Amino acid sequence: MPVDASSVVTEETSTAVGKNLAAVRAQIERAALAAGRDVNEIELVAVTKTVPLDRIAAAYQLGLRDFGENRVQEGTEKIAGCAALGLTGARWHLVGHLQTNKVKTAVAIFDIIHSIDSVHLAEAVSRRAVAAGRTVPVLLDVNVAGEASKFGFSPGELPAALEQISKMPGLQLEGLMTVAPLARDPEGIRPVFRRLRELRDELRQSCALSHFRHLSMGMTDDYQVAIQEGATIVRLGRAIFGERRQHDLAL
Ligand SMILES: *Cc1c(COP(=O)(O)O)cnc(C)c1O
Repeated sequence: MPVDASSVVTEETSTAVGKNLAAVRAQIERAALAAGRDVNEIELVAVTKTVPLDRIAAAYQLGLRDFGENRVQEGTEKIAGCAALGLTGARWHLVGHLQTNKVKTAVAIFDIIHSIDSVHLAEAVSRRAVAAGRTVPVLLDVNVAGEASKFGFSPGELPAALEQISKMPGLQLEGLMTVAPLARDPEGIRPVFRRLRELRDELRQSCALSHFRHLSMGMTDDYQVAIQEGATIVRLGRAIFGERRQHDLAL
């Protein structure tokens, strides 16, 4: 028996998340307007890592349906928890690095995978998708700034990787994603977002993949700049749910 979600969401939580969400939506609109873009082409993914279920339920009640997790194990628990609360019809996005030994679970529980960062991983996801009888929408993770600490394709590797991955069954290549370097001033990483857009445009021209359109870029500290540079998906955690606290990790 699903528990009624409203029984776990206090008015205080609902008000707090609602206020954040209203501010985020206003900022998205402002950034889109400044760039002469249609706000409807920008999807908001609420990143729920370390966020307790009551706050996720509050976001759901406020109309959010796209949620992101960066780890398969935590995602498994969250998705089951949300199902138990009757929060149906949500789309779950895997936004963090995926290890090959977790591909089977990831394909079973996530609706879209943003973090394809090697041809080998794409092969593994393709195999599991075919076995599960589904087509998995995927994005390629690009390490635009060439940071040693990050996963992702280098821009130079992309054309050959795309060529290989586009032939794999069970995958629908929908675009590119990046996690920008940490920066004190988001203006400093504008070139990273711009480069990802150029890469998408170049690849779209050369490959003629009909669904290859997304740019998943922009987090709490930099999403306005990402939208100005063409983001079609922004991934926001703290802007919606507040700062991640250590005790949240226990949930
Ligand atoms: C945590 C995370 C986000 C959200 O980060 P915030 O700064 O809280 O908005 C987005 N994308 C990825 C890949 C993440 O791991």
